[in-house]
Amino acid sequence: MRYVSTRGQAPVLSFGEAMLTGLARDGGLYVPETIPTLAPADIAALAGLPYEEVAFRVMRPFTGDTFGDDELKGAIARAYAGFGHAARAPLKQLAPGHFLLELFHGPTLAFKDFAMQIIGQLFQIALAREGRHITIVGATSGDTGSAAIEAFRGLDNVDVFILFPHGRVSDVQRRQMTTPTEANVHALALEGDFDDCQARVKDMFNDFAFRDEVGLAGVNSINWARVLAQVVYYFTAAVALGAPHRRVAFTVPTGNFGDIFAGYIAQQMGLPIETLVIATNQNDILHRCLTTGRYETDGVRASISPSMDIQVSSNFERALFMAYGRDGAAVAQLMDELKTKGGFAVSQGALQALRETYTSGRCSEGETISTIAMELAASGELLCPHSAVGVKVAGEHVAAPVPMVTLATAHPAKFPDAVETATGIRPALPPRMADLFDRPERMTRVPNDLQALEALIQERRRR
Ligand SMILES: *Cc1c(COP(=O)(O)O)cnc(C)c1O
Repeated sequence: MRYVSTRGQAPVLSFGEAMLTGLARDGGLYVPETIPTLAPADIAALAGLPYEEVAFRVMRPFTGDTFGDDELKGAIARAYAGFGHAARAPLKQLAPGHFLLELFHGPTLAFKDFAMQIIGQLFQIALAREGRHITIVGATSGDTGSAAIEAFRGLDNVDVFILFPHGRVSDVQRRQMTTPTEANVHALALEGDFDDCQARVKDMFNDFAFRDEVGLAGVNSINWARVLAQVVYYFTAAVALGAPHRRVAFTVPTGNFGDIFAGYIAQQMGLPIETLVIATNQNDILHRCLTTGRYETDGVRASISPSMDIQVSSNFERALFMAYGRDGAAVAQLMDELKTKGGFAVSQGALQALRETYTSGRCSEGETISTIAMELAASGELLCPHSAVGVKVAGEHVAAPVPMVTLATAHPAKFPDAVETATGIRPALPPRMADLFDRPERMTRVPNDLQALEALIQERRRR
């Protein structure tokens, strides 16, 4: 299995190389050269298997010779052992024909644990084998950083530096990043906003001398291995509802398009997915694009579902690559227009291809709050604001007899203020992390300055 860049100009890589590289050197994202399929009988055989066994069968065709079967099985077992629910991704019924896939039982209470926990294990195996050491640098608006620190804490061959905007992440998110005590993890509070954090990380990746010297690696949502790990729960959910004999639809609270693109991969592998609904908050660039055919940035407005507050949606580039018939030159041109003119028009053919798989909807701030309140009254389920965006938009797309599954992307206790505003209830942290607010914090305040950041990383990383 080989991986190619969406811009067509970077070296073709193995799974292991694509995983350790993250962003391709031509600025593109890695995608598999061909998408392996599972026959209907193979999909039917997944029914009733433990989550870990499904993960192995779904991921194995993509990993090539990078890992032996036992290595991959061991990594999967360790990745999900710390989850707080035996099913890992339990499915709950909200209403006739509408289900909720709870993806928040991992160690940091957001779906990002599904991918981050397994890539922590896979990085460790690949690096130990080669005697290599890497430095992971990432920017976060909250959930990615906490999931990365949790996944890589204490690993021998990795140092992790996470930049978050000082004063702009929730208390739970910050404490999940600042309370781990291992010496290889570093929470950096940057003077600036999330876009500044992301821009400085990008600058570091573009500083090739620094990139090579410290062995820079990225684990943000464009990393192919993360997308792959998220394909698994589309299979467990759809099979539980009757696939491959019955079609299933999904609604996905979307920001950077990583989670929903995993659904597209599941569909291409043969899972009978009727439609994938993109649910956006007021930062609705994707909904506007699907509706009008123009992809146009217009700034970010802070919302109560902050993990979906995006200006541009990085993984959408992968969807464009597929919709343009894998034409890397066409994608490179669109991305160039995006950079120089702030937007581009999707061709008629590509728009039609996108609309064959995806549909979309948007949820305002007021609707997010009212959905949290209404769902509590209707089904007893307490939703986080991101999941509420999904439930609201899904409600507009439920079409019997196809069951709809909405992805619940975070635990309500991770965003207690919005939940309390909506319901008067302040959701409690699960017992296994009830002492989060008693643990001592450790973080470094840093300026929004590339040289200063690079110097700090050079000094702190272990060699
Ligand atoms: C990251 C995140 C999202 C958005 O997921 P993408 O893969 O970026 O589309 C939605 N909800 C929560 C809680 C998240 O942490």
